[in-house]
This record gives sequence, C-alpha cells and structure tokens, in this order.
Amino acid sequence: MIDKIWDIAIIGSGPAGLTAGIYAARARMSALIIDKVGPGGQLGLAEHIENYPGVKENVKSVELIQNMFEQAKRSGAEFATDEITGLSVSKDNKEINIQAAKKTYRALSVIIAAGASPQRLGVPGEGRLTGKGVSYCAICDAMFFKDKNVVVVGGGDSAIEEALFLTKFCKKVTLIHRRDRLRAVKILQEQIFARKDKVDILWKSTIKEIIGKIKVEAVRVENVDTKETKDIPIDGVFVFVGYKPNSVFLKDFVKTDDAGFIITGENMQTSVKGVFACGDIRKNILKQVVVACGEGAVASFAAQKYVEEIKGMAY
Ligand code: NAP
Repeated sequence: MIDKIWDIAIIGSGPAGLTAGIYAARARMSALIIDKVGPGGQLGLAEHIENYPGVKENVKSVELIQNMFEQAKRSGAEFATDEITGLSVSKDNKEINIQAAKKTYRALSVIIAAGASPQRLGVPGEGRLTGKGVSYCAICDAMFFKDKNVVVVGGGDSAIEEALFLTKFCKKVTLIHRRDRLRAVKILQEQIFARKDKVDILWKSTIKEIIGKIKVEAVRVENVDTKETKDIPIDGVFVFVGYKPNSVFLKDFVKTDDAGFIITGENMQTSVKGVFACGDIRKNILKQVVVACGEGAVASFAAQKYVEEIKGMAY
C-alpha cells in the first residue's frame, strides 16, 4: 500500500526526531514521525536529567520527553508506529521511499534520527542470562535487586549515572572498569566517589564470563595487567559499555563509519540528497540530549530548505 507524499518524514522519536518534527511542523511542512515503539528513545530509559539547560532539579527524563512529544503534536507533526526495513530513492529521483512493516511511506525529504542501542559485552553467559540478572537499564530493573548485590560494568557517564541510581535499591554496587580512571564527566565522578558506603570500584578489570544456571550467580573477573581471574558471587549485572547505532535497516543506503554511525556534513546532510541525520545515530563528538535537539533543529531547517527548493518555493 502506498501512502501520501510527506514533505519531511522523520525516522525516530527521541529528542532529535521530536525536535525535527517541531521545527518542520512550525515551518508548515507536512511532517510524519515514524517510530517502532512510543516516543522516547534513550531518554525514556534515563531517570533524571540534570544537564539539559533550563530544567529544574529532579526533572524526570520521561516528563521531558513527554513534553517534547506533546509539543510536536501541538505543532502539527503526525505520528506513525511502524518498523522501517529499508530506504530507497524513487526512480525519478524526486522522492525517498521508506519501506516499513505495515506499508511504504513516501517523502520528499527524510531525517534519520533512529538513535542507538546499548552495546553488549559479548561474553559467555550474557545472552542466556539477559533478563535473568543481566540488564541494560537500571531504571527498568533496579527494583528487582532491592537489598541485593550487583555489578555495573563501564566507566562512562551511563555507567556512573546508573550505578548511582542503583545505590537507592541495592545493598552493594561494585563498579567494574577496565582502566584505572573513569571516562565519565567530573561531576558524576565526584558523586560516585562520595558513595564509598555503597559503591566499590574494581579498577583495571573486565568480565570474562557471567555465571549462573537459571539466573546470574557470579561473574568471572580478570585483572587486565596480571590476567588473574576470580569469581565474584553476585545477583545482577548491569552493562553500560557504550552504544551502537540503530542503523542496520539502512543497509549502506547512506555513508556510515565502520561502527555504523551516519556521516553527515555540517547541515546534517547525508551522502544521499534530501536525506539528513541527527542525534545519537550520527557520527559526532558528543551524545547528549541538548546536542540531539540542536542537531534535530538543524536537520529540520536544512530539510525545509531542500523541500522548498524542489517545490520552487525557495525564499
Ligand atoms: P561511553 O562514554 O562510550 O563509555 C563506555 C564505557 O564502557 C567506557 O568507560 C569504556 O571503557 C567501557 N567499555 C567499552 N567497551 C567495553 C568492554 N567491552 N568491556 C568493558 N568496558 C567497556 O558510553 P556511555 O557511558 O554509554 O555514554 C555514551 C554517550 O552518551 C557519551 O557521549 C556520554 O557522554 C553520553 N551520556 C550522557 C549522559 C548525560 O549527559 N547525563 C548520560 C549518559 C550518557 P574505556 O573508557 O576504556 O573506553
């Protein structure tokens, strides 16, 4: 089934996609935001947001994303829930076709804002015990570990934020990091170092195996220098070792780096004319909500200019 031709179709409804939708609709472009699930992206999985300018203390991330969603709707953006399977340029080169599970969408311009997903550790036991003690979301699963002992893997902002969140529920949180210092922003480092009552840090260590018959029972940890291993009995393993872009559906449609992050020009233009990318799926130096919103606005403005030009309406 073939749909109407949208001015701008936006793939993804995290902060980047919703901002692009707000800007597109306010420019009176017909704008469709397509997402596999509801609005939110990674932000929907975080607890609080502290570094988005203007937010008051203790603002919940879900509130912020809900406000963005309502703002996009109010502005006139429309929404569809569907799973995109591929993109292609129409034979006459004038439209982009978006193949999805339910139907094919047509648009003059497309903004890819499909975000990123948690990276797996890739060790034995991880896949089998996911949901049975292995988790990638503290806010989703922390309550299952009340008064229990957990490990958190990683040394970036995510690992530290989530470890801090887990201290509210767990008896003990052991942070396992492969280096002797953290990658996370200094303010988060200060907060985690201040929680010595609840948080142990195992430096220069990696997890080699997650052990357990029907649920997590222990982790096998290796010291990166000495290569000595030891098994630590544990109830849960929270993995925060970075993100991989949700770009599999693109199948080489636009240029990406080796990891799959989309390469763009400064106006978010991808290697395909009329196709833009923004947010966590884009190759950029900083993955933050404020960056995703800024990039969403730029991508949307650039897409508007593109659409106005092909309609012969350029200012
Ligand atoms: P990240 O910054 O890439 O950090 C990943 C961490 O996992 C690093 O410490 C890395 O170690 C470690 N790691 C990677 N692969 C590993 C492996 N196989 N085994 C063990 N450890 C491994 O990822 P992130 O913390 O998820 O953050 C992603 C982006 O989102 C960043 O730009 C971050 O600033 C942003 N973010 C921002 C906020 C916020 O502003 N509040 C919150 C969350 C995330 P090395 O350090 O040795 O590489």
